[in-house]
Amino acid sequence: MTETNQPSTPLAARTPEEIADFLTAQRTAYEQLKEAGLKLDLTRGKPAPAQLDLSDRLLSLPADPITASGVDTRNYGGLEGITELREMFADLLWVEPEQVVAGGNSSLVMMREVLVDLWLKGAVDGERPWSQEEKVTFICPVPGYDRHFTLLEWFGIGMVTVPMHEDGPDVEAVARLAAEDPSIKGIWIVPTYANPSGSIVSQEVAERLASMPTAAPDFKIFWDNAYAFHHLTEDEAKSADVLSLASAAGHPHRPIMFASTSKITYAGAGVAFLAASTENVKWYTSHLGKGAIGPDKLNQLRHLEFFGTPQGVRNHMGRHREIIAPKFAAVDEALTARLDGLEVATWTRPTGGYFVSLDVLDGTASRVVELAREAGIALTPAGSSFPHGEDPRDRNIRLAPTFPSLQDVSTAMDGVATCVLVAAAESLLG
Ligand code: PMP
Repeated sequence: MTETNQPSTPLAARTPEEIADFLTAQRTAYEQLKEAGLKLDLTRGKPAPAQLDLSDRLLSLPADPITASGVDTRNYGGLEGITELREMFADLLWVEPEQVVAGGNSSLVMMREVLVDLWLKGAVDGERPWSQEEKVTFICPVPGYDRHFTLLEWFGIGMVTVPMHEDGPDVEAVARLAAEDPSIKGIWIVPTYANPSGSIVSQEVAERLASMPTAAPDFKIFWDNAYAFHHLTEDEAKSADVLSLASAAGHPHRPIMFASTSKITYAGAGVAFLAASTENVKWYTSHLGKGAIGPDKLNQLRHLEFFGTPQGVRNHMGRHREIIAPKFAAVDEALTARLDGLEVATWTRPTGGYFVSLDVLDGTASRVVELAREAGIALTPAGSSFPHGEDPRDRNIRLAPTFPSLQDVSTAMDGVATCVLVAAAESLLG
């Protein structure tokens, strides 16, 4: 640690000489950091080994491969997943069981499949396949999840950004864009503890998204509820019931919800879910059935037995919280200790999810990431929370503190703070 939490004058308010002295001190700290020979990785939101261990009872389940309704999970069939697990997650996601498909291990795969189906076949409420449209554009709240953006880019789908606020996307901007441009076919929303901002879509914003008039009749909301149950505090966010809201507003086919147990049980061997209108579910499974005879029902049954009840999922998430909440606290502690009062950075204090979003001085995020890399601290590349990897202000950095040990998180964040200070002082000195 190089500097403690003293009352500080904002860096930009200091004289050039004072900033130069400050830079010299931070460079000394940075050289010490490099000499420490760290090898730390805060790039991706992965569960820590201790979190994966929580689910190891899965490895000896199921006790019996036949479900309560008599399905032999070892055999082919059951494209929409086993009934009992669909019921369990319908309860957790506040939807009806027939609106839920339990699939394979990845919700991102399901999102890609839905986009492929829209592209090749068109939506249930659309006039033609999206591939036959002159232009297709998505609204992208930023900062957002990099894999959403790379997937859209891969399709050649245009991206128009709107700011992400604490209560969700800038809904005025979204409503205006969707109303006036028929090429705008959708929006990707992470409604609960968004990646990376930690934002929670409010009931009002959800209502507006579900009910707003759109120029495209087949406008879709990809409601990616990857962190629906991933609370970090007692203050447990409850996601808006977007399917009912859209249905009540006369747009039942607009939202398609996704979720998974990737960060509940095993990131590589969980179960993913899609929930939508029953017409959308039929549409999805009819396309799915062209290339699949059924999902891994044995893994679904294993999950069902492991959780027991919907409350079993919530209890299990409490055990995750015990492991990861201290890591989020460590991020905040290190950043506060080193940066508070200097006005060179702001960061989120999420109440759930997997990320902290750090905004540094405009034009310095790439430099911070480069300095950190040279000191052995791997951060997600600057710009990755924006379409095409381009942050127009070069200021946002996504921090993922779940995977490293608590000690490593503290060490890494103290190092990141040094990099933020070096880059800020360099920038202010021109
Ligand atoms: N959506 C979001 C917002 C995510 O952050 C992630 C994981 N980083 C995923 C989806 C991936 O989900 P899955 O493991 O179910 O494919």
